[in-house]
Amino acid sequence: RAKEEGKNTYQFYTSDLNDISRKKMMMEKELFRALEQNELTLYYQPQCQVGELTLTGVEALVRWQHPEQGFISPGDFIPLAEETGLIVPLGEWVLRTACERHMQWRREGFGPVKMAVNLSVRQFKDERLVELVADALRESGMEAAYLELEITESIAMIDFDYVRAKLNQLKELGVSIAIDDFGTGYSSLSYLKKFSIDKLKIDQSFVRDLTTNEVNYSIVKAIIAMGQSLNVSLIAEGVEEEEHAHMLRELGCEHIQGYWFSRPLTAEQVGERFLKPQEVMQELSDAN
Ligand code: C2E
Ligand code: MG
Ligand code: MG
Ligand code: MG
Repeated sequence: RAKEEGKNTYQFYTSDLNDISRKKMMMEKELFRALEQNELTLYYQPQCQVGELTLTGVEALVRWQHPEQGFISPGDFIPLAEETGLIVPLGEWVLRTACERHMQWRREGFGPVKMAVNLSVRQFKDERLVELVADALRESGMEAAYLELEITESIAMIDFDYVRAKLNQLKELGVSIAIDDFGTGYSSLSYLKKFSIDKLKIDQSFVRDLTTNEVNYSIVKAIIAMGQSLNVSLIAEGVEEEEHAHMLRELGCEHIQGYWFSRPLTAEQVGERFLKPQEVMQELSDAN
């Protein structure tokens, strides 16, 4: 009986695996088509200063509008895109589209807003990354100072000297570098110190229950202290509650991003709700 069960389990397991790889292959094909047929779109999530709640930037987040399946979230296709290498052309599209969007907003008369773009490890390893970033800036006409590239601690898997060289080249272009999902990976203080990092994004898993979980509270506090001692800016992700925003402010985290301030929005929605005409921005900064 046990033998029989074992056999059944085994059969179930293999057919399951076949299902998974079949599904993967189909999705890879579809993702390739999605890229070619403009089924991808970018949403932009506002980031704000925690005290004044003024917009300080947006993060570009890719969405896949599948003709039959509707919206597919990046969590469901970015890992596959990384595995297959499709992330490289996909990431190029994201970067160019985000830079063009920034300039489109400016042409519509809005003041400049910082644009954060996610880079995966595979993209970071791509030899043409620096060239691509330079190209996207040049072709769109966007000033490098408004572009922020988000990398994760998993780049620590790549050769140290390579990472340092690439980060320096990117910094030379004038873009800034943020570490995304900070606290979930393996970077040590000394590792961080050797790179020119501009910002740490405190991972949402610590922020979510900040007010009720003492361990997460301590971690957030420690990350903020680390950021302050390294002299990098700090932003907390996944801020869903007002009380989290208040606590982060008390702890000394300057910026927040999360559903409490705003969900990711379409480019049009960002313009309508958050962007101010250039003249008004100028008056505001003159008055301050
Ligand atoms: P991420 O870069 O850490 O982006 C933050 C994610 O948290 C986004 O999910 C965002 O919608 C979500 N989020 C923001 N505020 C809240 C909140 O208050 N509560 C909760 N529960 N979630 C919040 P999204 O858009 O599904 O993206 C997931 C991940 O996919 C991103 O995590 C990023 O790692 C990756 N990704 C998205 N777009 C791109 C892209 O263009 N290129 C690459 N390489 N990766 C991308
Ligand atoms: Mg990100
Ligand atoms: Mg994150
Ligand atoms: Mg993430």
